[in-house]
Amino acid sequence: MCGIVGYAGFRDCSEVLIHALTKLEYRGYDSAGIAVFDNGKIKVCKSQGKLEMLKAKMEREGRPQGHVGIGHTRWATHGEPSDVNSHPHSGAKVTIVHNGIIENYRELKEFLSSKQVKFVSETDTEVVAQLLNYYYDGNPLDTIIKTIGELEGSFALGIVFEDFPEQIYAVRRESPLIVGVGKGENYIASDVPAILKYTRDYYLLDHDEIAVLSSEGVTIYDEHKEVVTKQLMTADWDEDAAEKGGYEHFMIKEIHEQPNSINMTVKPRVEDGLPNLSECGITHENIKNFKNIFVVACGTAMHAGMVGKYVIENLARIPVTVDIASEFRYRNPIVGKGDLVIIISQSGETADSLAALRLAKSLGAKTLAIVNAKGSTIAREADMLIYTHAGPEIAVASTKAYIVQLAVMYLFGFELALAKGRITEEKCRELTSALLDTPELIESILKNDLEKSQYISTQLITADSLLYIGRGLDYALSMEGSLKLKEISYIHSESYAAGELKHGTISLIEPGMPVIAVATQPELLEKTVSNVVEVKSRGAMVVLITREDFKIDENAYDYRIDIPATDDTLMPMLAAIPMQLVAYYTSVLRGNDVDKPRNLAKSVTVE
Ligand code: GLU
Repeated sequence: MCGIVGYAGFRDCSEVLIHALTKLEYRGYDSAGIAVFDNGKIKVCKSQGKLEMLKAKMEREGRPQGHVGIGHTRWATHGEPSDVNSHPHSGAKVTIVHNGIIENYRELKEFLSSKQVKFVSETDTEVVAQLLNYYYDGNPLDTIIKTIGELEGSFALGIVFEDFPEQIYAVRRESPLIVGVGKGENYIASDVPAILKYTRDYYLLDHDEIAVLSSEGVTIYDEHKEVVTKQLMTADWDEDAAEKGGYEHFMIKEIHEQPNSINMTVKPRVEDGLPNLSECGITHENIKNFKNIFVVACGTAMHAGMVGKYVIENLARIPVTVDIASEFRYRNPIVGKGDLVIIISQSGETADSLAALRLAKSLGAKTLAIVNAKGSTIAREADMLIYTHAGPEIAVASTKAYIVQLAVMYLFGFELALAKGRITEEKCRELTSALLDTPELIESILKNDLEKSQYISTQLITADSLLYIGRGLDYALSMEGSLKLKEISYIHSESYAAGELKHGTISLIEPGMPVIAVATQPELLEKTVSNVVEVKSRGAMVVLITREDFKIDENAYDYRIDIPATDDTLMPMLAAIPMQLVAYYTSVLRGNDVDKPRNLAKSVTVE
């Protein structure tokens, strides 16, 4: 959530900062601002609203001219979105941008107020700016170390000191921050896409490390002022991968990238027709004795875990509990030695998932991270790690990151079932081969179901509320279908186990209410179709997502979307696609900001 950028070099700093912030827009924000050294003086320009509003303001008030500065897109947590609460925030000698939450800001504010410090905004961030200013003794590094020693909570900070117009400073705890390294220019940013136009080389800052940047170089210190030597990382994708490439929105581009993402994620982990996860620290020996498995995640990643539960329980016969990370961490979970806790997170920085990981480790459980962002905190702290190779996902609503999370859950499930001797090598080969075939089948769905999904969306746009129903794996999948639709179309939607409807929820059905039913499992088909008939006979408008070879009475539904058949277990990989398309087109037709739905942020680094 929110974005931080900073630049020290030879280019027009305002331009670089605005460009870099544009690349972080996907993270969600409500205001933006920059601070640039203009003739040796820090000049701030900030505004509530989108970057366009900031740019217009810069035109009106005169754009800051210079080569060193910091910038920010804010996602308000303390104080409403407004010009005055926007970042940067300043004390007399110091100006900062901040991502995160300072938990003890009240105490610090009281302390500073008792020293006659005056505040202009309601933010927790301004307290940090004033505290830095209060402790400032002419030495920025000492000042920063002293100040962060008093901060509780999460922060990534970009800092400039009036007396040091050639330099920017950066420090982080919990919130993400990278340092981009160029030739005669250097950068800070919350995420890699911000700097890709200029460089692909970067350092990952660790907790409480402080980076000092000028056009000439970067030095990174730990909290004891010792210089740290860090490994230089290189992004293996370029700016094009983070561009729309002719598509109208990132989301539809990313939906089309799914076959490639699955190939990238699965193929390198298959050897001689069987899963091989040894590079991820996973061998038959170290996974076969787990007593219980917990999958802990948030939002879409948690839904990938729901599918994983059905797969693992069915194939490997180990009990799997799926938990929402923010619940898991506070419910005193019964987890310990002999258990495996799987944490799934696209960004690898999700605050609740990270806390859940640490809790699981402290209780003695083994941990496995399934993460997309390389080098992220969750990736680094877990005992075992499987990267998903979705590439950068820019749209807030996850599609390709979800599909590869599913792919990894399958691979892991197959490997586990084999390790435990619950399936034969032959069965495992069969399943793995079916998984390797899914990209091609998804291509065909994208070709054949696009228009149908578009048409069905026209039937949904006036709905106030709708239901997704399914049984078993289809139910697990429909949870994600429902979330996808509601998060970008703003139509209220719930997913229900089809057999549970008649225990209450069916009373919501009234003429014309859309119900999207998913029926891809042969042994549950009859039962699901009976539930579909129940809602249809009460007036629901039924959209049925099902297998092309299933024979179903035409009177049971209004619209049918067919998907090709594959192994029953793998059907969610295919049925997910029309759900994504329907959600996407419904959002487009309703005129919504598809890639940046209101109130949402891409990577949720606060609780
Ligand atoms: N807590 C800060 C504020 O409300 C920073 C929020 C952010 O991460 O954008 O201004």
